[in-house]
Amino acid sequence: MVTSKTRPVAQPTVRPRPLARQHRYFTWLSLSLMSFLALMVLIVYESRWVYPEIQGYFSQTGSLTGQQLSTRARVYLQNAQSELLSDQAEQDALDAATLDIDLAYGLTDVHIYRREYTCAEPSLKELDRLAALFVTRGIDRVAAAMALFAPIQCLTYIEMNQLDRRGAAINDFSESTRQHSQVLTYSSLLIFVMGLAFWWLHERQLKRTDRATQETFEWIKRAMRDPLTGIGNRSALHHDVLAQQHQSLGLILVDIDFFKQYNDAYGHPQGDTLLRQLATLIGETLNDEAQLYRLGGDEFAALLHCPNTDTLKRYCRQLIEGLREAGFAHPAHPDQKGVTLSVGGSCFVADEATFPNAYEAADKALYRVKAMGRDGWQVTEDA
Ligand code: GH3
Ligand code: MG
Repeated sequence: MVTSKTRPVAQPTVRPRPLARQHRYFTWLSLSLMSFLALMVLIVYESRWVYPEIQGYFSQTGSLTGQQLSTRARVYLQNAQSELLSDQAEQDALDAATLDIDLAYGLTDVHIYRREYTCAEPSLKELDRLAALFVTRGIDRVAAAMALFAPIQCLTYIEMNQLDRRGAAINDFSESTRQHSQVLTYSSLLIFVMGLAFWWLHERQLKRTDRATQETFEWIKRAMRDPLTGIGNRSALHHDVLAQQHQSLGLILVDIDFFKQYNDAYGHPQGDTLLRQLATLIGETLNDEAQLYRLGGDEFAALLHCPNTDTLKRYCRQLIEGLREAGFAHPAHPDQKGVTLSVGGSCFVADEATFPNAYEAADKALYRVKAMGRDGWQVTEDA
């Protein structure tokens, strides 16, 4: 049950948090997904280099082949030299050397060698020349073995050069691997820091919004409260009636009798004190079941559940009796009584359209009491 002390004014329901929390989770989910996608895009982007690099590396294994070819060719030529310089029969030595030279020629006659190494072409010509001289026996074995040094030197150069190229390719590959993984690490860090910054901005904005919402609700609450007594004002009464649509309510209007004279006798500050005391007393005599309002001057209103007019009458009676029991002094009361009240009430089913009629009916009842000499109550049936 609502009490007049703890909740005299209708409090607008403020529950922004759960919704804000949901929204917050949703935002965080989107942010995480976005960061994840950004990271994926970055990784895919950064991985592009892997394929050309690997391709480059394996194309350099062609150089491995190139190196191996030149090594073999060199070995054949060195074999040919050994055979030429051996003590085997002339014809046998020449035949074996010719075979090795042919084999070396086949391995050296590669387009890449011809294109990239200037010594390749002359070496091949030299091998051709030697093979032809072997047929005609136009050269002695020692001279032929000596003549093979130039092609052997060329092939050694090719071999070493191919080896260097492979080493350089592997170094390049390692260097770019290091560079790309550095880019990847720093980018991930950057994305993480950006995520933190996003989070911080988002939280700050959220706090500001929360504070603004709370302030707005504070202002609304203040705008609906009577500063003197702390109970609701006329706006709060309208708000509360609309908040309880279709419910059977009772409206009780209360006006102090001869309050002007009270002020004149005791002074305005004491009149203020009486207004505050009456606000408390009305709440208590209505069993703290009513919502209370000060409509202005010395006029109060009470809003309570009212299943029928008898209940309302009971409340009105309670009010008058409660005040009599309290026995507030009024030295200037024309009828030599203490403080007295005039009370009017009406029951109605809460609605925007029915409230003005209910108010008018309660007001009329109150003024009937005033007209009949004050200090009493009346209820208008069928408002
Ligand atoms: P009636 O029996 O016909 O109601 O006579 P009344 O003297 O109470 O007359 P009425 O209700 O018309 O006048 C209300 C008086 O309440 C007028 C004013 O002096 C006094 N009043 C209005 N607001 C305040 C307030 O905030 N504090 C005090 N102390 N007095 C107020
Ligand atoms: Mg009055």
